[in-house]
Amino acid sequence: MTDKTQFSGVWVFAEQREGVIASVTFEALAKGRELATKRGTHLAAVLLGQGIKEKAADLFAHGADKVYYVDSSALAGANSDALTAQLAALIAQYKPEIVLGGSTICGRSVFPRVAVRAQTGLAPDCTGLDLDASGVLQATRPAYVGNVLATVVCPEHRPQMATLRPKAFKKGTPTAGRIGELIEAPAAVGDVKTKVVEVVRDAGNQVSLTAADIIVSGGRGLGGTVHFSLLTELAKEFGGAVGASRAAVDSDWINVSHQVGQTGKTVSPKLYIACGISGAIQHAAGMGSSEFIVAINKDPGAPIFEIADIGVVGDLFTVVPALIAALKNR
Ligand SMILES: Cc1cc2nc3c(=O)[nH]c(=O)nc-3n(C[C@H](O)[C@H](O)[C@H](O)COP(=O)(O)OP(=O)(O)OC[C@H]3O[C@@H](n4cnc5c(N)ncnc54)[C@H](O)[C@@H]3O)c2cc1C
Repeated sequence: MTDKTQFSGVWVFAEQREGVIASVTFEALAKGRELATKRGTHLAAVLLGQGIKEKAADLFAHGADKVYYVDSSALAGANSDALTAQLAALIAQYKPEIVLGGSTICGRSVFPRVAVRAQTGLAPDCTGLDLDASGVLQATRPAYVGNVLATVVCPEHRPQMATLRPKAFKKGTPTAGRIGELIEAPAAVGDVKTKVVEVVRDAGNQVSLTAADIIVSGGRGLGGTVHFSLLTELAKEFGGAVGASRAAVDSDWINVSHQVGQTGKTVSPKLYIACGISGAIQHAAGMGSSEFIVAINKDPGAPIFEIADIGVVGDLFTVVPALIAALKNR
């Protein structure tokens, strides 16, 4: 059993790519600030990369009291081997009580491996975080395809680790000029066995699916790859991103990076428009927490209408062009 008295502080892993801090990091800092205040401890961010020291200012502005910074060329790309080794080394050295990160591709790759190295537990993809009276983190996450909400605790081991579902937590308002303690730590990336050979950008979505405020999603009802251009046009009018059901992805109508659902991405936009999607439980698992759901489906009995705020019973090939025309005439 871990000697818990040796552990203190709430940490947030500041995920970044090419010097741009991921939005979920700021969401985690806002929640981390709340937890740190309740625990009467400090909030720290961990910034790993090369030549991005000045980004610490954004982390201080969003509530971090300390920023642990490691500058290394091995940490420049999104190499999860290097990130895992470095984060695990910092945890072993500084012993934080709680470590938070994003439930992103990077977080999902790095956090489970760090948890194993730190010999502790991990609550992944959380939608709620709180502390009980004794300071044990209460991590809420959907389980059984979103049918129940489980509360996950790690009472005996430290740190308590959790990844946060992007957009499930609100960002705080940054305080410009707020300063904190910048601690430069030595690189400890270990034996990096993998290397990032090339980064291929998804040309399809100009706006990242998980970061988008508006998502227009298509399913089997679209009937073919060519019709996704209709959704692309609607998404463009809204400044949003295009999503898809697994049926559309499996039919090779659109790349898998657009898939929303249990085996795709979890999204939580302000507006989700489901076009020709039946609303299977595995799809709903990835978009059910959207703030406002509009469903366009020609079958009035489609399950998507049970979770939609507005349901349009009709042919999407009539409704979507009418929507695009209305938006163009604004
Ligand atoms: C382990 C597992 C994991 C899965 N993971 C995922 C996942 O991550 N994401 C996911 O989406 N699915 C996932 N699925 C698949 C899921 O169960 C459904 O099969 C899938 O979501 C169905 O996609 P769909 O709604 O596009 O197709 P369908 O269920 O075939 O629905 C098509 C809908 O389009 C409507 N329609 C047809 N023509 C029109 C028209 N002209 N205008 C308007 N409406 C029209 C129909 O009325 C129908 O409701 C998973 C399944 C399993 C078993």
